[in-house]
Amino acid sequence: MKIGFIGLGNMGAPMAHNLLKAGHAVNVFDLSAQAVQALVDAGAKAAASPKAAVADVECVITMLPAAAHVRSVLTADDGVLAGIAPGVSIVDSSTIDPASVKAFAELAQQRGNTFIDAPVSGGTGGAAAGTLTFMVGGSASAYEKVKPVLSAMGRNIVHCGDTGTGQVAKICNNLVLGITMAGVAEAMSLGEALGIDVKVLAGIINTSTGRCWSSDAYNPMPGVMDSAPSSREYSGGFGTDLMLKDLGLATDAARFARQPVYLGALAQQLYQTMSAKGAGRLDFSAVIKLYRSETPKDTAKDTAKDTSNGDAR
Ligand code: NAD
Repeated sequence: MKIGFIGLGNMGAPMAHNLLKAGHAVNVFDLSAQAVQALVDAGAKAAASPKAAVADVECVITMLPAAAHVRSVLTADDGVLAGIAPGVSIVDSSTIDPASVKAFAELAQQRGNTFIDAPVSGGTGGAAAGTLTFMVGGSASAYEKVKPVLSAMGRNIVHCGDTGTGQVAKICNNLVLGITMAGVAEAMSLGEALGIDVKVLAGIINTSTGRCWSSDAYNPMPGVMDSAPSSREYSGGFGTDLMLKDLGLATDAARFARQPVYLGALAQQLYQTMSAKGAGRLDFSAVIKLYRSETPKDTAKDTAKDTSNGDAR
């Protein structure tokens, strides 16, 4: 297939690489010339604008930071909607709010195109390995059409329902993750303060009813798990500011649905405190610093782009 790919960051770059590896022809666009060059070196074709990247393609994929970026890439004079042929699907894998997804889907439909939300879980590790989970929102026929393309980048391609439900799944998952990480941080810190060996405590939790991904795969207490960001000064992984963004999406969506999110709102404030203290670029498990009387600032150097072990989401 001929594919247009826009947004070649920590996630988008390895995803586009996997499309090339699977034999697709890929046009790429990013504001970063360096990011584009790395994909061109791997066989992609550079485009001068989103409009140019989508001319003559059969599918478009966007992987951008937030809804504002998606809107601009879609609607600018040299944007996707100005260059795309009718009938071509636009797949957005960014994590954004479901309401924006619906607005973008309507804009696309006016041009005869389908806009599909397909946010991912699996982090940068999953993006590189081609093992991402895609949570897809859209009609059954739209899902079937893009599934083969997504299969080149992920292992689980799940149809969640109508337009926007992919983002609903993503937001709800990260709501759980933000809360469980804060809960594990609280319990591990209490245990430490009360004098138990933290490895023993983690072992008990991980074989008891407190077990969860935040405790058994990504424990926030330093020295408990060699592979977790907590054992490398919280560098790499999934940034505190990204978790803050996702909890903001959850609380906004909850307000829209008139649905309480007591714990999510509290967790959001914890990560916001971390961010306000200058720790926004640290992995989100650094939230444990709020409990351990540590100054929660970013002591790890240049972690903004270092998500090499970003298997958090
Ligand atoms: P990133 O900041 O590393 O990459 C974003 C890329 O978009 C950058 O290369 C930037 O130059 C480009 N960009 C921004 N505005 C643009 C524009 N107008 N035109 C073209 N390119 C533009 O972000 P990321 O970590 O790759 O995350 C992308 C999305 O995936 C986010 O919504 C994030 O929440 C979500 N996500 C991230 C992870 C993770 O572990 N990093 C995991 C799952 C989902």
